[in-house]
Parts: sequence; C-alpha cells; structure tokens
Amino acid sequence: MKKSVKIRLVVMAHPDDPELACGGTIAKWTEQGDEVYYIIVSCGEKGTWDRDVSPFNVAETREKEANEAAKYLGVKKVIFLRHPDGNIGLANTLKLEIAALIRKLKPHTIVTHDPWRRHFHPDHRATGFIVIDAIMIARDWHFYPFLREIGLEPHRADELLLTPSDNPTFINDISKTLDRKIKAIRIHKSQLGQLPNWEQRIKKMAETVGETSGFKYGEGFFQMRI
Ligand SMILES: [Zn+2]
Repeated sequence: MKKSVKIRLVVMAHPDDPELACGGTIAKWTEQGDEVYYIIVSCGEKGTWDRDVSPFNVAETREKEANEAAKYLGVKKVIFLRHPDGNIGLANTLKLEIAALIRKLKPHTIVTHDPWRRHFHPDHRATGFIVIDAIMIARDWHFYPFLREIGLEPHRADELLLTPSDNPTFINDISKTLDRKIKAIRIHKSQLGQLPNWEQRIKKMAETVGETSGFKYGEGFFQMRI
C-alpha cells in the first residue's frame, strides 16, 4: 500500500530557524515524500554585525538564502510574512495571517519554536505563542467568520511539535540526515559569522539529544495533540 503524503508546516521567526531547529527532520520528511512548507515571520533584517550594510539588503540576502536552503531540503514553498525583526508582536494580525495559511495548507503537522523554553530570543517566544493561538483560530468554527466566506474552512492539524524544547517528549533519529542539515545551514552564508563554532555545536547538540533515545544524532520536540 502506498504511504499517504503528509503535509508538514514549519512556522519560524527568522530565515535560518527551520534548518537550525530541525533541518534533519525536514530532510527526513521530504525524503519519505511528505510535502513541507515554511512560513517565515520576519526576514531577519537586523541579523548582521556589519554596521555599514542596510537592513533592506540583509533582508533580501536572507530571503534568497532561505529559498535556497529550503530548495536543497526539498521544501515545496517558503512563505515570507515580512514582520519586523526583533519586534514580532503584532499579535492579532499575525495570528490571523498564520491561521488563514493553516486553513489553506491543511497541514498534518505544525512545527514552531517552544515558547516555554528558557533563554530565548523574544521573536522565537512570540512566534511560538502566536502559532499556538493561530492553531485554535484555524481549528474552531466561530473564529473570524470572514475566513469561511473567502473559502477557508476550519482545519484541525493532528500534531504540534515545539522545538527546540527543554523537555522533549519525542526524539527524532536524524543520524542519516544530519549531514544534509549541516549543508542546509551552510547555505545561510550571511549568518555563519554570527554563529561561532556552529557546526561543532550543532553536532554536539544532536549527539546529546539523540543519546537519550539511543540514536547517534537526534532532534527533540515537545509534542502536543491539537
Ligand atoms: Zn531566529
């Protein structure tokens, strides 16, 4: 019997977050034939230490890098919402944007930042909470009736995966795809200078996370049913 194709939606704050957080899992999903989509909330235009470069140029570069890394991992489409970097917090409009896209894409799985994790970038925390609220708007009938008028019927995803998490409940074995995760991260050239020893750190973290489940390398998620 042919395995059914699952739609996986990864909603993250910045252009390099999907690969950094769960590139090994994304590679695994596309290799097994699943359709993966990204929603990137901000273009990360403040993500540079170079005082002389314009944020507009940074945004443009980072969108290109995101598209390229996603293409390398076999992702179907990257949707950029272009909210301001470092200031993600237009909660109601952003919730509605994400809810509308969930209704349109009808994902089985939604992945986002774990907003309850300690030591966190404010955009990651904000995005995590906003995505959780958007899932409810997408799921329940009486939220924003105009969505149904424009053809976006309620959609209930099966699972929400929060990553990285301080208390993962599900470890995915990425021993076979760690290499592709690292290659995908390397495509985000503009960011590598700001991530000292990133390759070592990513490997070490994958090792530590994988170890708990007997895998060489792993990525951890806090799994919630929706
Ligand atoms: Zn980020």
